[in-house]
Amino acid sequence: MIEKKREFPKEITILKVILKRFTLNHQRQIELENKLSRKLAGYKGEKELDYYLSQIDHTNLKILHDLRIPHNNTHFQIDSLLISNTFLLPIDSKNYAGVLDFNPEFNYLLQTLNGFEKVYQDPILQTKIQASQLKSFLMKNQFSPPPIEFLVSVSNSQAIIRNPANSTEVANRVCKTPAVSYKIQSISEKYNKEYLSQKEVKKIVKLLLKSHVPYIPDIQSMNLPMDKIQIGVQCPDCGLLGMEKIHGSWVCKQCGHLSKDAHIAALKDYFLIFGPHITSRQFSNFLNIPSIHQAKRLLTSMELDISGSKKGTVYRPKKDFPLWD
Ligand SMILES: [Zn+2]
Repeated sequence: MIEKKREFPKEITILKVILKRFTLNHQRQIELENKLSRKLAGYKGEKELDYYLSQIDHTNLKILHDLRIPHNNTHFQIDSLLISNTFLLPIDSKNYAGVLDFNPEFNYLLQTLNGFEKVYQDPILQTKIQASQLKSFLMKNQFSPPPIEFLVSVSNSQAIIRNPANSTEVANRVCKTPAVSYKIQSISEKYNKEYLSQKEVKKIVKLLLKSHVPYIPDIQSMNLPMDKIQIGVQCPDCGLLGMEKIHGSWVCKQCGHLSKDAHIAALKDYFLIFGPHITSRQFSNFLNIPSIHQAKRLLTSMELDISGSKKGTVYRPKKDFPLWD
């Protein structure tokens, strides 16, 4: 049973809004574009892992995706965690392309792609550390955890996994994502002893769900050029910033697209950049419309939380406002 679904990564939403709204210098632009494409590839890999995990027999398994648990003054993250009565299994998803040489003896991964070599941290070691953090977290919360296994799932279908030192650890712990179900089956066949009662499994799930702290990127700490922000309403069709409000509709002067609600996306961008509160003056400035009254009408039409009065009226997103979608 899936106890926790994967959330859309907030970092992707933030990177997209930055790349849309800020004029950056070339180096920063490339840096953030690369980061965004890595995050998108990583998310794609995780979604693929979710797909293959949804295919396995869930009768005796609880699955939690995308956990971030505070522990010992830091956080540990698990892409997917499987909990049964007999074992626990954290799975880490990697989307590296190219030829991947796993060297667990010296704890590195060598990637060869388009003739270039790049060294990464050993994903086996990373996942092993997550497993031991999970164990220590559960012990600290008065559970005696069952054996903890771990897997590294390589989702890029073009990747070639190599094991130059013939390590059994690489053979046992690393697999292509479509093979995870076979790995899980052979792991579950290894364990017969029931370490946890159904009640304890439920308690562990509850504890992890309660402890999970989603990662929210802090845009204020990113040192962005606030004077180079691009205001205006974006055309949902061609992407141009600067739609005009004519007779109740937003009109794109580039492609002629008409929209009734393009201002909602602009408000979302504002909240992500400046935080979850806005006045009608700030909204009229950000949309680049001269009338504060029009801005106010738009804000009140959106079912936001309203506090204060007159010029000090502040609008905030309600809980169900789709800020991160
Ligand atoms: Zn347009």
